Order: sequence, then C-alpha cells, then structure tokens
Amino acid sequence: MEIEATWYCGYCGEENSSVVDITAGDEQTFVEDCSVCCNPNTLHIAVDRDNEDVDIEAEYEG
Ligand SMILES: [Zn+2]
Repeated sequence: MEIEATWYCGYCGEENSSVVDITAGDEQTFVEDCSVCCNPNTLHIAVDRDNEDVDIEAEYEG
C-alpha cells in the first residue's frame, strides 16, 4: 500500500511530496532530490500503520 506524504526541503524549504510504500517497513530512509532546487534530501520515514499515516523528516545532504 502506498501513501503520498509531504515534506519540506532541508535546503530551500519548499514543499515536496513523495509516495511511500508503507508495507516496506515502519521506518525507512531514502534520498530524494527536491523538485524545486534539485538538492538531495535524506528522508527519514516513520510509518503509522494504525492510522495509515506517514511522517517524513527531511535532512539536507550537503
Ligand atoms: Zn529544495
């Protein structure tokens, strides 16, 4: 099951959204480029399966 969640670029602060597969694990980390400034952010994903919700912390890699 996939959920779309928003996060804010750690570099420029702009809003981005990513699709997270919540069946892949309750805690996930992956790198995604900001759609606005193209800088890579490390996304720390925390999945709340009960509420089918996803919390993303973005950290600028640089
Ligand atoms: Zn950005």
